[in-house]
Amino acid sequence: MGKRVYNFSAGPSMLPLDVLQKVAERITDYEGTGMSVMEMSHRSKAFDKIIGDAESNLRTLMNVPDNYHILFLQGGATLQFSMVPINLMNRNHKADFVVTGSFAGKAAEEGAKFGAARIVASSKESNFTYIPKLTVSDFDPEADYVHITYNNTIYGTRWPYIPDTGVVPLVADVSSCILSEEIDVSKFGLLYAGAQKNIAPSGLTVVIIRDDLVGNAPKNVPLYLDYEVQIKGRSMYNTPPTWSIYVAGEVFKLLLRDGGVPEKEKVNRRKAKKLYDYIDASRIYTAPAAAEDRSFMNAVFGTGNADLDEKFVAKAQGEGLIDIGGHRSVGGMRASIYNAMPEEGVDALIAFMRQFEDENI
Ligand SMILES: *Cc1c(COP(=O)(O)O)cnc(C)c1O
Repeated sequence: MGKRVYNFSAGPSMLPLDVLQKVAERITDYEGTGMSVMEMSHRSKAFDKIIGDAESNLRTLMNVPDNYHILFLQGGATLQFSMVPINLMNRNHKADFVVTGSFAGKAAEEGAKFGAARIVASSKESNFTYIPKLTVSDFDPEADYVHITYNNTIYGTRWPYIPDTGVVPLVADVSSCILSEEIDVSKFGLLYAGAQKNIAPSGLTVVIIRDDLVGNAPKNVPLYLDYEVQIKGRSMYNTPPTWSIYVAGEVFKLLLRDGGVPEKEKVNRRKAKKLYDYIDASRIYTAPAAAEDRSFMNAVFGTGNADLDEKFVAKAQGEGLIDIGGHRSVGGMRASIYNAMPEEGVDALIAFMRQFEDENI
C-alpha cells in the first residue's frame, strides 16, 4: 500500500482506512457473489441487503423516528436546493431562509424559482462569520418551511442551537456535519446531505423526510424529483448510486462498531478544540468565526497576510498535509476535519503550524 496523507479537503474528503481496505479486499468478489458491487444489479438479492442494511444502520445511528423516511438519491445537496421547494412549497407558496453562507444563499435562490423566498436573516455583511440569533417570532408562521445550513463548510460556522420555528417545518442542509454530532431528527421536517464530506464517495445524497411532508408535489414534477416516488421505490425507482451506497453502508457499520455518533462527537469536539485553542493562543494565526459559532468540521483560519497564507498552504502540502487552502471566496486556510480525519492528523497539523509560526514570526 502506498503512503497515506492527511487530506484536509472540504469534499470529497477522507474515508476511514478500515473501510477502504475492506472494500478493496472485496473489489472483485463481494461475499462469494463472484462479482464486484460495482457490477451488481440493483435488483439483486445481494444489493437489496446492502441498501436495506445501510438504511436500517443509518436509522439506528441517527435515532431516526419511524415516521421519517430515509432516501439515497443523486444530484448532491445542490439538487435538494430545488427538490425541497418543489415538494414542500405547495401550501402557501412561500418559505423562510437564513443565509449563513454561500450554500444557504443558493438554497434561497433556488427556492425563489418556486415561490416567495424570504431572507429572514443573513450574516453576509460580516462575510458570514456568525450565526444569527433567532426566535420563533422571526419566522413567518405561514411559511411552508424554514431552511438553514447547519454547518457552513466554506466559512467554518455551525448553528450552536436549533431555531424554534413553531409549527413550521425546519429543513436543514447537514452535508458537512451529518453523523459528526448528535442531531435530534424529530426537531426537523427534512434533513439532507451530500455524502462526500462525512459518509461516502460522491454521487450519493441522503435525505431524511417526515412522512406528513410527502405527497404534495405538483402534477408536473419530474418523477425523479418527487419524494413520494422515491419512497415508494425504496430509493430504487431508477438505478441508484450503488457503489456509494455500499461504501456508505460500510461507514455506518464501522461507526456502530466504534460507539456510534456520541463517541464520534466526543472525538470531533476534542479535535476541533485543540486546533482552535492553538490558533487563539498563537501569535500569527486568527480564526474569523465567532467563538460560539465555530464549526467542529471545518476550521477556517489565516495569518492575515495572503502571501504568507500561500506559503503555508504550499509548505503544508509538501509535508503531507493536503488541500488546506481556504475556499476561493474566503482565502487563508481551511482544515476540514471530518469524522475520518484521525486525531493524529490534527496533531500533525498543529505541530506543522507551530513550526511555521516559529519560522515566520
Ligand atoms: C458541499 C456542500 C454542498 C454542495 O454539495 P453538492 O453535493 O456538491 O451539491 C451544499 N451544502 C453544503 C453545506 C455543503 O457542504
